[in-house]
Amino acid sequence: MKKVYLDNAATTPLSEEVIDAMLSVMKNQYGNPSSVHSIGQEAKTLIEEVRRKAADYLKVSPGEIVFTSCGTESNNMIIKSCVNHLGVQRIITSPLEHKCVAETCMEMKTTKNVELVYLRPDKKGDLDLNQLESLLQSSDKKTLVSLMHANNEIGNLLDIDRVAQLCKQYHALFHSDTVQTIGHLDLDFSKTLVDFASCSAHKFHGPKGSGFAFIRKASGMKGLIVGGPQERALRAGTENVCGIVGMGKALDISIQNMQEYSKHMQTIKEYTIKRLTQEIPGVKFNGRSAEKDRSLYTVLSVALPFKNPLIGLQLDMKGVAISQGSACSSGASKPSMVMMMVQTEEEMQNTTPLRVSFSHLTTSEDIDMLVNALKDVITENKIEISNLEYR
Ligand code: PLP
Repeated sequence: MKKVYLDNAATTPLSEEVIDAMLSVMKNQYGNPSSVHSIGQEAKTLIEEVRRKAADYLKVSPGEIVFTSCGTESNNMIIKSCVNHLGVQRIITSPLEHKCVAETCMEMKTTKNVELVYLRPDKKGDLDLNQLESLLQSSDKKTLVSLMHANNEIGNLLDIDRVAQLCKQYHALFHSDTVQTIGHLDLDFSKTLVDFASCSAHKFHGPKGSGFAFIRKASGMKGLIVGGPQERALRAGTENVCGIVGMGKALDISIQNMQEYSKHMQTIKEYTIKRLTQEIPGVKFNGRSAEKDRSLYTVLSVALPFKNPLIGLQLDMKGVAISQGSACSSGASKPSMVMMMVQTEEEMQNTTPLRVSFSHLTTSEDIDMLVNALKDVITENKIEISNLEYR
C-alpha cells in the first residue's frame, strides 16, 4: 500500500545528503573531540564547523550555541538553569507550550517555589501582550518569560520581536522554544533579542537525538549536566559528533532552500485548505492555522465536523500517517491543553482535531489521498456531516 506521511511537525525523514554525511563520520571519524591528538581534533573541527553554521544562520556568535541531545533537553536546561543559576523567581508562560516547557515550569514551581503565571490565550490562540506588559510592570521579582515561537499543534506564530522588546524594557529574561521554526524561518537574533532559544534537528530532516540551545553570551548561564568540560562545561558529555554533523548538513540544506521549500509548503497548505473546505462541509481550522501570515506554513490544524477519536488509526489503515495533535500527546485519553484553549465546549464535543503537517516532500497527490481517505472514513462510519452527528 502507498504510504503518505503528513506528520512532519512530529518528525521529518532524513535527507539522503544527511545520511551520507553521517555515514562518512561513522565510517571515518571516530575521534573524541576533546582529545588533543589529530584524530580527535578532526572530529572537533567537524563540530565547530556546525557551530559556526548555526551561529551564522541565527546571526549570533558560535560561543552562544551549545549542542544538546534534543529540543526537550535544551528547554529543560534553559529554564532550570535560569532558576538554579540566574536567580529567576517568577516565570511567565502560556498554557499553549509544549509539554517539555510546561512540565519544567511546573517543576520549578513545585520544587523551587517559583511563581508561575500564565498568559490567557483567546479562542484564536493569540496571547495578550498588554497582559504580558502589565505583568512585567507589576513585580520586581527576577522574571523569565518562556513563550514558544510557533505552536506545534496549531502553528500560531508569536510576535517574538515585540515580546523581546518588552522583556528588555522591563529587564526580564526571554526564552523562546523555537523548535518548530529553526530550519524553517529566516531568524536574526542580532535583531530579535531573545536570551535563549532551542533547536531540534529532526524537525528539519536531520537526525533524532541532536539539537542545540542558543544561550546569549551575557547571560551567565550554567550547565544542567555536569562532569566534563565539553561545550564550555555547559553540557558535559562527549559530543554526538555524527548527530551534530547530520544536523549541520540538514541546516545547510534548509537554509539554502528555505525560500523554495516554504513557498512549496505554503502552496500545499492552501491546497489542503481548499480541498478540505470543498469536500467536507462544515470543516473548520483551529487557531490562526489557516491564516497565511499568522501561522507557520508547516502546520494546519483541522477541526473535522464530527466526533471520531479513532480517526488517526482509521487513516493509518488507509495509508495516511497523521497525528491528531502533537505526537507526544497522541494516544493520551485527555484532550490536548491547546485544543481546550482554542475550542469552545461545543466544538470540543462535536469536532475531531487533525493536524496536517507538511514538508518540502509533500505533494498535492498526498493531500488528495488524505481527502479520499477522510471521505472513506466518513462513509464507512456512516457519519452524518450535516447535523454533526456521529453514529
Ligand atoms: N518544543 C516543540 C514546540 C516541539 O514541537 C517539540 C517536539 O515535538 C519539542 C519541543 C521537543 O523536541 P524534541 O523532540 O527534540 O525533544
